[in-house]
Amino acid sequence: MHEVELATRVLNALHQISADQGARVLEVNLRVGEINEPSSLRLWLKKLGGDEFNSTRFNIVKVPIMIKCKCGYSGDAKSLDTHLPEPELGIACPKCGGHELSITSGQELEIVDVKLEKGKVQKRQTKKSR
Ligand SMILES: [Zn+2]
Repeated sequence: MHEVELATRVLNALHQISADQGARVLEVNLRVGEINEPSSLRLWLKKLGGDEFNSTRFNIVKVPIMIKCKCGYSGDAKSLDTHLPEPELGIACPKCGGHELSITSGQELEIVDVKLEKGKVQKRQTKKSR
């Protein structure tokens, strides 16, 4: 239930912005790495958002998973089993099939900007999940 935690983190940050500005959040632009299951995250944002965010539009830009393998391959990852407890373990190198790789992108969880009612725009970034 990794996405629940991430969705909660995003909603807490949005709540803080909303409370600071005294305005409802109309729209949020997010950059979400594929490891964080963008489509599932969107559902949880809606589900956990409650009344406060029921009219908020969540725009999610998906960031593909890019890896760098021990064998020298670097590029995007073809296979991913995100149902494992640690999603990165489900990534195999498309060249050698190995798992001794590092992830160079695809772990993002960033609030790019937030549009509040009354036309206020607030820029804010959250830290990466790991
Ligand atoms: Zn490899």
